[in-house]
Amino acid sequence: MTPNLCDYEQTRATFSWAQARRALDGLPGGGLNIAYEAVDRHARGARRNHPALRWLGRGGERRDFTYAELCAQTNRFANVLRELGVGKGERVFLLAGRIPELYLSALGTLKGGQVFCPLFSAFGPEPIRQRISLGDGRVLVTTAALYKRKVAEVRATLPGLRHILVIGQPEETRDIAGILDFHQLMAQADERFEIARTQPEDLALLHFTSGTTGTPKGAMHVHEAVVAHHVTGSFALDFHPDDVFWCTADPGWVTGTSYGIIAPLTHGITSVVDEADFDAERWYGIVQRHKVTVWYTAPTAVRMMMKVGTEVIRNYDLSSLRLVASVGEPLNPEAVVWGQEAFGRPIHDNWWQTETGGIMIANYLAMEIRPGSMGRPLPGIEAGIVRRVGQGAVEEVTEPGVEGELALRPGWPSMFRGYLNEEERYRKCFVGGWYLTGDLARRDADGYFWFVGRADDVIKSAGHLIGPFEVESILMEHAAVAEAGVIGKPDPVAGEVVKAFVSLKPAYAWSDALRRELLGFARKRLGAVVAPREIDHVANVPKTRSGKIMRRLLKARELGLPEGDLSTLETQ
Ligand code: AMP
Repeated sequence: MTPNLCDYEQTRATFSWAQARRALDGLPGGGLNIAYEAVDRHARGARRNHPALRWLGRGGERRDFTYAELCAQTNRFANVLRELGVGKGERVFLLAGRIPELYLSALGTLKGGQVFCPLFSAFGPEPIRQRISLGDGRVLVTTAALYKRKVAEVRATLPGLRHILVIGQPEETRDIAGILDFHQLMAQADERFEIARTQPEDLALLHFTSGTTGTPKGAMHVHEAVVAHHVTGSFALDFHPDDVFWCTADPGWVTGTSYGIIAPLTHGITSVVDEADFDAERWYGIVQRHKVTVWYTAPTAVRMMMKVGTEVIRNYDLSSLRLVASVGEPLNPEAVVWGQEAFGRPIHDNWWQTETGGIMIANYLAMEIRPGSMGRPLPGIEAGIVRRVGQGAVEEVTEPGVEGELALRPGWPSMFRGYLNEEERYRKCFVGGWYLTGDLARRDADGYFWFVGRADDVIKSAGHLIGPFEVESILMEHAAVAEAGVIGKPDPVAGEVVKAFVSLKPAYAWSDALRRELLGFARKRLGAVVAPREIDHVANVPKTRSGKIMRRLLKARELGLPEGDLSTLETQ
């Protein structure tokens, strides 16, 4: 099969976003809507009976939705929102695992012109409350179990949340004001719906991401992003009409939306969704049974597969695989090579982030892979390495191999259009005509980009971005804690795990019991994915004279590395 991107230089030279837009249909009568491109245009055409979503349940169930069925079901959800009086641009939050209702709600929300905002189901009550509150959520779709465990206790603090649609509603939630039965509403709703006449610049998706300080940032994406989802599906993931694609990402994060929902559907192909968590043998079984051709996963999962070893793979026929790709954290060069041994093909690393909305740098199928490199920029994307030179200025580093900040020239369709209600934070990302990504990287003489590290203190654990400030703030709420500093500690499988250092108030003494209590306290509030895995005691959390926590110093001490410049350290 000929790859979609054969001649990189040639395609780059002739590519234009305007032309890429013409591969999509646009709404009949004008406008652009992600869900129309993903669902309705196929449901109206030759692909109407082609499987769109293949859902695999935890217990072995399987449910296929053809494009026609997906169209009818997402229409129902759009009608549910309309009946509830939810207006265009209002935010619909989803808190659920990988269940079919999530996908129907996401696409139905986009059809109605509302904004889809996913939450990670492993978040604890506090990250959930904070994001719904910051995003001014009007509707929450969740399961009865998640409602009871995570939402009930913060419900009263979210007055703007008018409707909660509960899936699998048990007796206990039935009579609570504002709680509605998802399935009952869906059953009553009409299967026909005329998609809202959204324009390319209308807000479609809101993805929360974390920075070093302050509250989580709501990255705003518009309907035009679908042009980039489609193009990257073609160039980086090499979608062809008969592909069976499997993106293992959770829909609570941006990859799970851009590639777990939108991109494959815009190509009219079959997208596999597995409800269960990682299990190497289950995964190989899925690839074999469903003849997965393109597999998009993450380095943590690859490392877990490597731990299980290649022996077990011999029991499966994985010959359907054409392309295995990975994103989210650095992919070790050994992992790229291991792919060759395990699957008979290397693993293709690619790079992007919440703010970019889609893949920006990739190792393409037809291009030589350099293990350890993120690849080369997508046609239509100009990437550079820059150095900050004083206030409000950067200069491009053109010599190969020199480290600097990875930057992109603004203007691609899936570029975030702002951080919700934080104009200043958004503005600061753009300097001297570049969007600064916050990552450090190098470019070699052939234009391949190599990841070096983050320019800030955010933590990447199992592919999930975690803001240290969020964790520190919760620890500080405990009566015993005077100060807290949080770092990412290198971990062979998860990349990094969250580690906290706390100092105590005078009346408290450090003990193992207190450590356990703090671990439990943080876990209950933040959820397993964000809470620290380890907590240690320090007499003082190191800070600069201006009061900023010196996380880099905590990290250097933890790892036994040189402590660097301590001239700004506040002496205690
Ligand atoms: P998120 O916004 O949660 O998707 O996280 C984006 C960040 O993940 C990037 O800014 C990088 O720090 C990291 N990241 C994503 N892809 C890669 C990759 N291929 N190699 C190294 N780091 C990556």
